[in-house]
Amino acid sequence: MFVFCALVMVRPPAHGETVLPLKVAEIAQDVFVAQGAVATANPGNKGHIANVGFIIGNKYVAVIDTGGSIHNGLRLRQAIRAKTDLPIRYVINTHMHPDHVLGNAAFQPDQPDYVGHRNLTSALGARAETYLKAGEALIGKPGFAGTRIITPTIPVSKAIELDLGDRTIRLTPMKTAHTDNDLVIVDLQTRTAWLGDLLFVEHLPVIDGSLNGWLGVLEQLVTERYAFVVPGHGKVSRHWPGIAEPQRDYLLQVQQKVRKFIADGHTLADALSEIAPPDETVWKLSPLFHRRNVSAAFAELEWE
Ligand SMILES: [Zn+2]
Repeated sequence: MFVFCALVMVRPPAHGETVLPLKVAEIAQDVFVAQGAVATANPGNKGHIANVGFIIGNKYVAVIDTGGSIHNGLRLRQAIRAKTDLPIRYVINTHMHPDHVLGNAAFQPDQPDYVGHRNLTSALGARAETYLKAGEALIGKPGFAGTRIITPTIPVSKAIELDLGDRTIRLTPMKTAHTDNDLVIVDLQTRTAWLGDLLFVEHLPVIDGSLNGWLGVLEQLVTERYAFVVPGHGKVSRHWPGIAEPQRDYLLQVQQKVRKFIADGHTLADALSEIAPPDETVWKLSPLFHRRNVSAAFAELEWE
């Protein structure tokens, strides 16, 4: 494969700031990941808080997630151009959350197909304004100006395969779990699975779909034989399915505790004040997201 080795061309985005390539790690042959900070979006990280990356075939490049701002996407694009000048054919989003999709516009000059779960278009449509307002408030105009929502040109409603040139990636839309639009991407050559936020490492898992559904999807995924897994947040791992155990334990605990509160006739307010968040040394950002998880679980489980 031809690898572009010349000096990286740095072109300024619309707001005139220099864009440097994201630091990427080659986790398997021609599979690159830029690990996001385990943090919330802020002016310092400019939304680079989720794992983003790309796979290079013999003909095309596929991008997987684009980060939390156009700035984040432009930096990812520079990282790709530092490795190859092959066409960026596909920009794939693992799910709707802003830290995974708001860099999409950075790739418009490449005229790629945008690929996502069939529910992604409606999910983003309903949340576009909220995501854009919140992103600008958190990141600030310098990193965020020009950020736009871009929805799939290829909606995925059943498993499909994309050919990158002597390299096939399989995309599987999942039932409602972390969200109602989670997509799993597997590079068949290296058995690298991009799980998006179906897998959290280090960062407390966040429920925005269905707790029961997520546990069901995990049961299905742990039977797969992946050589590498890329979580939505936290370090890439070779230890599948072991790496998913802490997340499963946390979700099961939330399920069990919330069920007990409901069975005992307690209110959501009781559950929120009494089901303590896990220690932050175990799960980062726990104080920020645990209460939201308890609320989501309560709303779901009280109708069981
Ligand atoms: Zn997410």
